[in-house]
Amino acid sequence: MVLSELAARLNCAEYKNWVKAGHCLLLLRGCLQGFVAREVVAFHRGLLAAAPNLGPRATCRSGSRCSPRARQFQPQCQVCAEWKEEILKHHTNRNGDVHWGNCRPGRWPVDAWEVAKAFMPRGLADKTGPEECDAVALLSLINSCDHFMIDRKKVTEVIRCRNEIMHSSEMKVSSLWLRDFQMKIQNFLNEFKNIPEIVAAYARIEQLLTSDWAVHIPAEDQLDGCEYETGVYLSESQVNEIEMELLKEKLQEIYLQAQEQDVLPEEILNRLEVVKEFLRNNEDLRNGLTEDIQKLDSLHLQHQKPSSKEPGAQTPEGKA
Ligand SMILES: [Zn+2]
Repeated sequence: MVLSELAARLNCAEYKNWVKAGHCLLLLRGCLQGFVAREVVAFHRGLLAAAPNLGPRATCRSGSRCSPRARQFQPQCQVCAEWKEEILKHHTNRNGDVHWGNCRPGRWPVDAWEVAKAFMPRGLADKTGPEECDAVALLSLINSCDHFMIDRKKVTEVIRCRNEIMHSSEMKVSSLWLRDFQMKIQNFLNEFKNIPEIVAAYARIEQLLTSDWAVHIPAEDQLDGCEYETGVYLSESQVNEIEMELLKEKLQEIYLQAQEQDVLPEEILNRLEVVKEFLRNNEDLRNGLTEDIQKLDSLHLQHQKPSSKEPGAQTPEGKA
């Protein structure tokens, strides 16, 4: 790792704020995972108690024909049709987007997590549990599933902040913004006063946001055991890990937007270009993200020549 590059990046207060905000999201994710895992099982159990015919003995009769795609799902059997109806009953966004494509409906009778994914954002089909999800996936579940008794405005405010972090083209946020974010996280976490691990995480988040967030660079500092224990200091490799994770999430978000083509291709290209430019100047981060960038580049190439991607398109090359 090139220490000078990290030091230069963190010299920019607004970039440091951005990384801090991202670190908060990671802490938030960490404290929600166990809670969500337990609640998803309880939710599934509750559904089966109310509708025993949907339980483990119910089997999808249509196999691959009961396969959702993106926001579309037309069940081909009675079991999946009833499950779909049951899920929608508990969906707070039932008239809007439901990302059925996340789910394998045939697993609904036996797998609580496959049900949970119907309440989450797109692109999570291959995630097998909350430990593989980012903060926004868990927040969306809490927001969209009526099993979670919570003031939904407090969840959507945190989701909005998360989106601002991820969509910040320059990867910078102001100190004012960060203070506002802290308040919103506090409001949200206060809804979980009886969940010890969430209460504990709040203390860490608060400490992080109100600290200078000095980074311990061994060559310059003496490690002070006492301060170290407060958890305010992070080693350079810890900071680097956080940056890497944030950038990966940002690139994944651009990828999903490009894939679903809900953002103009030029806009996608601009966003990607900003990240690439940033990485050109930061070799320590660039190496870990090569694959993610390549994935986006090849998707972009595909979109540039859509005709060759169409199945059965009668192009001269296709016949050759
Ligand atoms: Zn089915």
